[in-house]
Amino acid sequence: MSRLPVMSSKRVLAENAQDLAPAQKRLRKDADPVKPAATVIGTKRPALAATRAPICVIKQSVASTTSKGGNMKQPVASTGTKTGGTQKLKPCDLKGKVSDMVRNYQIKVKTLNQQNEVLQDSVSQSQRKIVQVEKELQIQRSQIGKLQVLAGVQDELEKVLSDKNFLQKELTNVEGKYRVMETLRDSQETELQTLKMKLSVQESTLARVQVNLRDFEEEVRSLKETVAQQKDELYAGEMERRRLHNTIQELKGNIRVFCRVRPLVGGGLPKHVQLATSDNKAITLAKTEESHTGKTADTQKNYNFSFDRVFGPRASQQEVFEEISLLVQSALDGYNVCCFAYGQTGSGKTYTMEGDEVDETRGVIPRAVQQIFKAAGKLGEQGWEFTFTASFVEIYNETLRDLLYTGKSSKRPEHEIRKTTSNEVTITNLTYERVSNEDQVLGLIALANQNRSTAQTAQNDRSSRSHSVFQLDIEGVNAGRDVKCKSTLCLVDLAGSERMVKSQSQGDRFKEMTAINGSLSNLGIVIAALANKESYVPYRNSKLTYLLQGCLGGNSKTLMFVNIAPEPDSFGETLNSLRFASKVNDCVIGTATANKK
Ligand code: ADP
Ligand code: MG
Repeated sequence: MSRLPVMSSKRVLAENAQDLAPAQKRLRKDADPVKPAATVIGTKRPALAATRAPICVIKQSVASTTSKGGNMKQPVASTGTKTGGTQKLKPCDLKGKVSDMVRNYQIKVKTLNQQNEVLQDSVSQSQRKIVQVEKELQIQRSQIGKLQVLAGVQDELEKVLSDKNFLQKELTNVEGKYRVMETLRDSQETELQTLKMKLSVQESTLARVQVNLRDFEEEVRSLKETVAQQKDELYAGEMERRRLHNTIQELKGNIRVFCRVRPLVGGGLPKHVQLATSDNKAITLAKTEESHTGKTADTQKNYNFSFDRVFGPRASQQEVFEEISLLVQSALDGYNVCCFAYGQTGSGKTYTMEGDEVDETRGVIPRAVQQIFKAAGKLGEQGWEFTFTASFVEIYNETLRDLLYTGKSSKRPEHEIRKTTSNEVTITNLTYERVSNEDQVLGLIALANQNRSTAQTAQNDRSSRSHSVFQLDIEGVNAGRDVKCKSTLCLVDLAGSERMVKSQSQGDRFKEMTAINGSLSNLGIVIAALANKESYVPYRNSKLTYLLQGCLGGNSKTLMFVNIAPEPDSFGETLNSLRFASKVNDCVIGTATANKK
């Protein structure tokens, strides 16, 4: 460093300060011009000390300094040993020496000043360089900063590049998809075109159809009007049919009697039963009486009867029903209808009323029920709605028994006949079953037969000694016309009409006989009273007539089958039956009126 020599000179001056002290005072004036040099060197005090240093020593010291430079201590020490001591200098020498010293010192100062200047230059140069270097450093830093920024930018760039690659791939992908979509779009456009064409075809078809539809609507409107008109006409026609039908029934008689002859077990017809060949209304019972004396010829006694219709032994169930079907129709039209089967046991009452299960041999009840449901269905088209309620009751020994009862026999309820406020007859605790089809009714008939046969095992042949009454209550409503009708169809299989031999009639049998005879004869009396328009009709005299009160007389139509057995040994019973039936046939029951509300 350039500062190092200056520092050394200071120290030299300080060390020789004591030696130079006496000369210092003298040399103060001369020393003044050198003062600035000390100021240049450094601090103020060392400058003063330097002025007071022994000149001789300095001379040598300077010499050594200039010659050797660097470490100045060594020469000063050696000088001290040379000049120190007790040797005294002369004034002239001293003066010369001082002046030399001053000169040397001045030279030295000069040199130092020059060096100082050089150093100052160097310092200022260095400072400039420093400034420059700092500037460069600054520039470098800013460049480094920029480079750092650039490095960041590089990273960004790489990222952007990878993004770009990714996006490129995506783009390729999307382009692929786009191409697929384009193909799809093209095909859909084609399809659209096709559909448009179809649509236009459909539109024109639709327009045509709409025109047709309007025509049809117009037609439907006029047809509806026609239908409504025809419905009115149909209703009027139906009412007219009912009226005419009823007129016919009345002309035929509100009480009619049909006679039916059961075939012989081996077929054919016995001699004593003769049927008219001209018409089917007459029957003759012929009895040949042998002459008691033997002298006269046997006499034949004929008993002639005529009825509304006589069915021979070959008459089928269908033929028989055809006659009664008109009355069944009356039941649907709102008239009470009652149909009895009268005759001795084994004459064919049950066969006529119920028949066998096979289609052709089915009797009146299943056929009537079938006809009623069929006719009700047809009337439904004209706005009629029907409800049917069935009941099946047995009258044995003037006691009522529910044949549709399904509970425990020990809990069988008792029954009583009651009249409602509207004069309708009902039976307490009886099963009234709502039915809507034929099968249901057939099921009820089967149940009734089961109930009868159970009773029969306990008491032999009970069914022939009891009346069984099947009742179908019919209620019709025509809401559109605000018309209602209500009626009852009664189909009765009466107890056997045979008379007992009095000697055989004892105990229960006698009681049974009395009950049967009582109710059957009362039936005859009631019908006769009705025919004679008597004010008092003894309905209450028997359970049968009381129960059938609504179906007999004024507001009803009555049909009685008299069934006869063809066997010769039944002659007496047959004759009795025919007599009873013809008595009934002679009655004219008051003209019926339909139960319309
Ligand atoms: P009832 O009920 O009057 O006692 P049924 O109806 O039980 O008599 O008849 C007695 C028998 O005669 C039965 O076996 C029945 O099948 C038969 N029968 C009755 N009438 C006819 C007929 N018209 N044709 C064929 N068989 C009949
Ligand atoms: Mg019977």
